[in-house]
Amino acid sequence: MKINVKAPAKINLSLDALYKRKDNYHELEMVMTTIDLADRLQLVLLEKDCIKLDVKAHFIPDDKRNLVYQAAALLKERFQIKQGVAITLDKSIPVAAGLAGGSSDAAAALKGLNQLWDLNLSLEELADLGAELGSDIPFCLYGGTALATGRGEIIEPLPMMPNCWIVLAKPSISVSTPGVYRDLKVGEVKHPNTKGMVQAIQDGSFEGICDNIGNVLETVTLVKHPEVKRIKEKMLEFGADTALMSGSGPTVFALVKQYSRAKRVYNGLRGFCEEVYLVRPWQEER
Ligand code: ATP
Repeated sequence: MKINVKAPAKINLSLDALYKRKDNYHELEMVMTTIDLADRLQLVLLEKDCIKLDVKAHFIPDDKRNLVYQAAALLKERFQIKQGVAITLDKSIPVAAGLAGGSSDAAAALKGLNQLWDLNLSLEELADLGAELGSDIPFCLYGGTALATGRGEIIEPLPMMPNCWIVLAKPSISVSTPGVYRDLKVGEVKHPNTKGMVQAIQDGSFEGICDNIGNVLETVTLVKHPEVKRIKEKMLEFGADTALMSGSGPTVFALVKQYSRAKRVYNGLRGFCEEVYLVRPWQEER
């Protein structure tokens, strides 16, 4: 038996950190949406009790440091699975980019293995298991557009993102997510309007999304890495309707209603950045 699963990347339409909790996580409010840029996983059932992982990309671990491996190991241990799996992971999502690539791979592995090993777990049960491995995994299991609160693991699904074009640009720098949260001064920064963003999604209003877009982590990453700020400015100069950093960065995305303008932003950015993508919101049904 063989199963193919796609693992789409996400972008943050809004990201707010309200305060630091006693457990050291920040209390978050994020509106996220999946986009049509996806890794691919193939899962093959093995009768032998083992997990094999083959990653078609450089510099990504293929052992228990990989979230896909951890997802398989968690299900195996929790449900005493005696069968095994051979997983091939084909990466297309840029790594350590703020696009939740690893989390989406883990979510896809949980979904696929639920079928392959005949576990009959509900989406909610998979999300609870996923949250043990990473805060973004529950969102990646639901996909589409959603409000994520808590440390990101509490999900309220929202209607689909209105159709538009998305240009992504990832500068070749690395950003440490814990470092960004450590340097964030929640009391001193301007917070995005999460309610306004949720309303805009509910109204299907592209203009409303552009008016309410915001990421509190830009106050840290854009100051530390001026090249990220420059990419954002270039996107707006080339005609983007709006532009924002995703997650803790360093990827910046532009939303553009018109294809001709999106193409201009895409072509313009390719002069500044090696990794540039032109995609649409993810269209698969939930
Ligand atoms: P987030 O938006 O959730 O912060 P990210 O896009 O910043 O995620 P990832 O691409 O998920 O970051 O990867 C971060 C690190 O996790 C990598 O440096 C890599 O070594 C490790 N990792 C573990 N599993 C995976 C995976 N399946 N794909 C990519 N990286 C993985």
